[in-house]
Amino acid sequence: MSEKALQILNSVFGYSEFRSHQQAIIQNILNRNDTLAIMPTGGGKSICYQVPALIFPGLTLVISPLISLMEDQVNQLLALGIPAALLNSTISSAEYHNTLGKVHSGGIKLLYMAPETLMLNRTQHLLNAVQVDCLTIDEAHCISEWGHDFRPEYRQLAAVRRSLPQTVCIALTATATPRVQQDIKTILQMTDSNEFIASFNRTNLFLEVTEKKKPLAQTLALIEKYQGQSGIIYCNSRKQVDKLTKVLADNGCSVAPYHAGLSTGERTYNQSAFIRDDVQIIVATVAFGMGINKSNVRFVVHFDMPQNIESYYQQIGRAGRDGLPAYCHFLFGYGDIQKVKFFINQKSESEQRIANQHLNALVGFAESEECRRGPLLHYFGESYSRENCALCDNCLSEPSPLTNVTVPAQKLLSCIYRTGQLFGASYLIDVLRGSKSKKIIERQHDQISTYGIGAELTKPQWLQLSRKLIQENLVIQDPEFGSLKLADSARSILRGDRQIEIRLTERPEFSGKESANK
Ligand code: ADP
Ligand code: ZN
Repeated sequence: MSEKALQILNSVFGYSEFRSHQQAIIQNILNRNDTLAIMPTGGGKSICYQVPALIFPGLTLVISPLISLMEDQVNQLLALGIPAALLNSTISSAEYHNTLGKVHSGGIKLLYMAPETLMLNRTQHLLNAVQVDCLTIDEAHCISEWGHDFRPEYRQLAAVRRSLPQTVCIALTATATPRVQQDIKTILQMTDSNEFIASFNRTNLFLEVTEKKKPLAQTLALIEKYQGQSGIIYCNSRKQVDKLTKVLADNGCSVAPYHAGLSTGERTYNQSAFIRDDVQIIVATVAFGMGINKSNVRFVVHFDMPQNIESYYQQIGRAGRDGLPAYCHFLFGYGDIQKVKFFINQKSESEQRIANQHLNALVGFAESEECRRGPLLHYFGESYSRENCALCDNCLSEPSPLTNVTVPAQKLLSCIYRTGQLFGASYLIDVLRGSKSKKIIERQHDQISTYGIGAELTKPQWLQLSRKLIQENLVIQDPEFGSLKLADSARSILRGDRQIEIRLTERPEFSGKESANK
């Protein structure tokens, strides 16, 4: 069987060999075993179900969340001479019936649709009338609330899966947190599925996190460095995209914007200009990138903070798809944390909990002094033990010296205790640093013994220390309210039995409160 698969890979797709995992996944599907395939963006997921689709006698159904993605896929397949079609709410009735006829007569091998279309009665009738050999669920993380892109419609796929017991099911995603994996398997009832997890270590990507100081100057310097090479600059808002595009253009850069506020025409135009290399740099919100297949993106800049590690990883994953070296620069600003928190606070309580954990993991990654690949791959459930990757800022630079911060840690712990274990790090630090804020005066926290005794560290350094205490389980952070409590083990620090050392990062001060009120 797999000989046939290889033959199809060569003759239809024009590739000489399978990439790691592709062959095993395809063999598993052909053996009609349910499959969960986790591969990084650009890893080559599509081939995994497209090759079996050409071997199975019946139909392969592909569920995908975005119409534009499906259109691209179908067009690419048609260009290769593979009979594929798309059913969605926007096609004309004539087109719909035309496709329907072809599906009935077995003239279509791959049929793409969004989950909403799948749930329609008429679609269900169609599926009852034909032999569906394979149900492919693309972007399967959309089924999980723990993913970065939860879509309620995806939940209904569970029922569809049950209604097609003879059909082999393959779920594909680039999101590999163990929590999301479990959700996918549980919801789709893939009880004895086989899992294939490709390594998420993209060894051609250089990773760097720099403190965001003068973002514009920093960005211009990077563009200068990558003269004439393709790059993507991610911002968090449409307004920021427009502003940055204008400034960069005024500085003589070849740039185009991309965000959901532009007309479809403008978006398509800018995107194709970028893909054709008519424009060097695209300045974009997260809206840009899904399904974009440009192999020679040489650099990705995060001008603003990404939402979480998954989005960060997806976005940097668009660099270096050709396997040649590419560079990822994350401008990490402490003020940006407050902005993200501000957005998180608008969410429902349960969503806030998840979003806060995601945010903490991202900050942990940015602040890490170890090889960047460690926390990144750990987040995706992959163990990574190599000491020096030689492809990240931390591996290439001398570590900053360790500072003994036992005394400040004692101060912070007593401040937590003396204010009743009710407050978050930012407030506690304001007390330590003797802030005259109204809340502190009202609560008479300017009267306690730990008020104003913390001038030795800047606020960001105090925050860094508080995160260290949380990481070391000396302090417990309330997942909902962020308030800090002492763990039993904190006593060892207070008694002086245990020392705490960290590599203090010298960051400029900012007032978290001001940013949060923006
Ligand atoms: P993903 O969906 O995992 O992001 P794609 O399926 O879009 O990735 O594949 C990424 C790129 O890799 C595409 O350009 C695809 O044509 C190419 N590709 C996939 N499999 C192979 C292979 N076996 N050999 C060469 N190129 C491949
Ligand atoms: Zn490294």
